[in-house]
Amino acid sequence: MSGFNFDVITLFPKAFELINNLGVITRALDKNLIDVNLLDLREYGEGSYRQVDDKPYGGGAGMVLKPEPIYKAYESIRKLPKSKTLLMTPQGKVLKQKDLARWSTLDQIIIICGQYEGFDERIRCLADEEISIGDYVLSGGEIPAATIINGVSRLLPGTLGDPDSLINESHNSSLLEYPQYTRPQVFRDMKVPDVLTSGNHKDIKLWRKEQQLKRTNNRRRDLMKSDELRKLDCD
Ligand code: SAH
Repeated sequence: MSGFNFDVITLFPKAFELINNLGVITRALDKNLIDVNLLDLREYGEGSYRQVDDKPYGGGAGMVLKPEPIYKAYESIRKLPKSKTLLMTPQGKVLKQKDLARWSTLDQIIIICGQYEGFDERIRCLADEEISIGDYVLSGGEIPAATIINGVSRLLPGTLGDPDSLINESHNSSLLEYPQYTRPQVFRDMKVPDVLTSGNHKDIKLWRKEQQLKRTNNRRRDLMKSDELRKLDCD
């Protein structure tokens, strides 16, 4: 059985060496749970110079990716039945954990990375979704694409050692994760809360829920649902 396919159209395939060296993702690659196919845009460039970009019509700063090489690269990709094409752009919908979860049930994600000043507007119609990884501008779509590959891969069955670690984590629900501690019990006068060493599972569960509510309220009240806010205000 072949794994989940990521096909990435990029001018800088070397940038993706990053994902080969990230613990969980390395394991997913080794176990063939994911397959990352990098299409080097330069190879689809025009003419003997393999041109991939040009000056914008109407003038203005910088260079823009031409449509032909991207279309050629895109059309060379074998499409699987459940496939989506994502275009990396700071003008897109801001990436959320629920998007990663939604995509993790597909067979394939095709990612188009922009560079320079961006890309020719006619590239937009190849995309099912336009995605931004946040309200800031990077020099290219490679780090956003690697972010998506990393985030989707760790949701795939068999990737994480313990799938339970996905359940309570931040952004899986509307609450952030509770504080975590490991040994030693006292480190530089900072002590692990007594409840965690009490062995009382019911108290631990209650404490963690309370911490989740407090922590989310302090840091990201915007994430909370109305019943959670009510509970907090009543306590
Ligand atoms: N001039 C463009 C920005 C170009 S940045 C504009 O104002 O919209 C160059 C490329 O980097 C983009 O085409 C996109 O592929 C990628 N990129 C930059 N910031 C990004 C972000 N926050 N999310 C996703 N992709 C981004």
